[in-house]
Amino acid sequence: MKQQKSSVTISRKKRPSNRFAFRKSLGQNFLRDSSVVAAIVEGALINSQDIVVEIGPGDGALTILLAERAQAVVALEIDERLTPILLAKFNSRPNVKILQGDIMKKQISDIIEEAGVCLAPGQRVKVLGNLPYYITTPLLMHLLEVSNRQKISTLTVMVQKEVADRIAAGPGSRVFGALSVAVQYHCRVEHLLDVSAEAFVPKPKVASAVLRLTILEQPSVKVSDEAAFFHTVRTAFGQRRKTLQNALAGIRGHGRESLTEAFAAAAIDPGRRAETLSLQEFANLTEAIIR
Ligand code: SAM
Repeated sequence: MKQQKSSVTISRKKRPSNRFAFRKSLGQNFLRDSSVVAAIVEGALINSQDIVVEIGPGDGALTILLAERAQAVVALEIDERLTPILLAKFNSRPNVKILQGDIMKKQISDIIEEAGVCLAPGQRVKVLGNLPYYITTPLLMHLLEVSNRQKISTLTVMVQKEVADRIAAGPGSRVFGALSVAVQYHCRVEHLLDVSAEAFVPKPKVASAVLRLTILEQPSVKVSDEAAFFHTVRTAFGQRRKTLQNALAGIRGHGRESLTEAFAAAAIDPGRRAETLSLQEFANLTEAIIR
């Protein structure tokens, strides 16, 4: 997330320490609008049975409200300067566990184990975070890996508005792409709210939005070979301005003729572009390509 200053002193009442130097490299834009904090926690549909894993608690703006609603909150923060601030703030809250570490290097199961939290049989965690924008896409992909998504019921995340639009976009949209397909394959996507830059300190240069991603029991479309499906999707969007016939030329060793046959078998016009295909059509086309 781009921001105007890399180091700011935030208001006396709300600052996490006397002169906290925000680290732009860690995507540190802290929420300072209580109505936005409330709307995010409300949108996450937290109840008193829930175990919440919060990614990047910062100085705890969301954590406070989560602690009031959830059975337990495990907050993982990479910046070691924030650990003592968080520990002091949540000292009197036994249902809040503060961990220091990098979410990209941890599995959800490790986080739960490290925090010493017990999940009921079959229980999944709710993940929540005002995400560090510098790793939004790899972080979402990490959380959607099979080992993690099997442990998660919902992800309520604040991301750049532009990324939220891409994730939620449907076929026919200019911003529908491989990220939309990857997320919508595993999740139901709901846009909860847009958030202006004014809600943060320091103020970022981009607008933000909050999405609730509900992990589906089964992927949204049936495919016999997931790797082949995502290969088709990535190859098609890799040259999104080209027709599918040109963008997919040579895929899996197909010559022009056999690729034309695959399009015919999937009932897809080869003159269409990737952004017009539904997930089901990508699945049908992949089946025809690998047959
Ligand atoms: N939740 C706070 C709020 O809303 O005010 C802070 C949100 S700030 C956008 C993102 C937070 O994620 C920062 O506190 C940052 O230090 C932390 N962070 C950045 N990279 C991280 C990582 N790889 N693992 C865990 N936390 C990370």
